[in-house]
Amino acid sequence: MENQRGKGLSFARRIYLPRVIGLGIGFFSVGAALYPLTMPSWIWALLLFNGFAWPHLAYQISTRAAFPYQAERRNLLYDSLCGGFWAACSQFNPLTTVTILSMMTMNNVAAGGHRLFVLGALAQLAGVLLGWAIFGFKFTLITTQAQVWACLPMLTLYPLALGMVCYRLAIKLAQHKRALSTLSRTDSLTGLLNHGAWKDLLHLKFQQCRQHNSQATLALIDIDHFKVINDSYGHIVGDAALQQLSKELKSLLDEYELAGRYGGDEFCVILPTLPLSKAEMLMEQLRETLQQYRHPQVPELRVSLSIGLARYQNAYKDALDWLDDADKALYTAKHTGRNTVSVALSRSSPSDASQFSH
Ligand code: GH3
Ligand code: MG
Repeated sequence: MENQRGKGLSFARRIYLPRVIGLGIGFFSVGAALYPLTMPSWIWALLLFNGFAWPHLAYQISTRAAFPYQAERRNLLYDSLCGGFWAACSQFNPLTTVTILSMMTMNNVAAGGHRLFVLGALAQLAGVLLGWAIFGFKFTLITTQAQVWACLPMLTLYPLALGMVCYRLAIKLAQHKRALSTLSRTDSLTGLLNHGAWKDLLHLKFQQCRQHNSQATLALIDIDHFKVINDSYGHIVGDAALQQLSKELKSLLDEYELAGRYGGDEFCVILPTLPLSKAEMLMEQLRETLQQYRHPQVPELRVSLSIGLARYQNAYKDALDWLDDADKALYTAKHTGRNTVSVALSRSSPSDASQFSH
């Protein structure tokens, strides 16, 4: 409800300036068409109100309403009703009629698409019928030179104002789209890439390695006995351990080394430029750093990591083959005492994995 109100309020704010400009200069277009027709004074009072007071009143009405979006749409329909009314009052002066009705229609389409276009057209028709009911069915199909000049500000300034509003809206939408795209690729707890985004990158890196015959290493990192950490100290402490691991990963890796949260307490890294020996040293460093971690409220907590490494090999059919090797190396690390880095051997080697124990 609050979110909807917020959207309605920004809609009302977006319409405010174009309405102030449009109806303010529209006063002169309509005034120039009415002037030769000797209209009653209440019509001039109404035109003054419509041109200079209504935009501010409309803004107050919509921003104070419980449903600002609906209120603003009603205001737009009221604008259209008035437009039709002024067209009938001016006895369909060609330039004035085309100017005010087309500008209003443009506004309605920009604000509410084809639905508001149709409703706006009906409101304009209702305004025309009201004008005819009061002043009769009259036409003056001539536009004087003065009336042409009086319409020029409306024809030039109003599209400019509306164009600016649409441009600002497009910029805002593009920003929101970028933010949403980043959010959809990010793990909310750790700020690392999420499972899907990291997997996409893995496939990309695999293709690059295959095409350029370049080296890269894959690391799967898993916290040892993480369930016990959760069960003993609670999920908040567990979350802090996950965040600490991601923080250390970010500070250890450079921008080309891509870290993600594979899921739960399992993390994954692509190390694109490092040879296997360097990657192994880096992961050793990570393992040791995490061992030094002390939670402020639970100083007795110790966090150890099991890490599986697999370097890119031409023998892999696809990226999942590569991931499978890293997974097997992680499995080896888990089953040989944990708190260790294990490396998958070349596929042509007789055994699957070698291991550094600590
Ligand atoms: P192992 O040494 O074999 O890896 O054992 P483990 O206990 O670490 O592994 P297991 O897969 O049994 O447990 C992982 C736990 O991680 C289970 C799940 O409740 C917990 N977990 C998953 N996501 C989160 C999270 O976002 N926050 C916290 N605090 N816990 C999580
Ligand atoms: Mg684990």
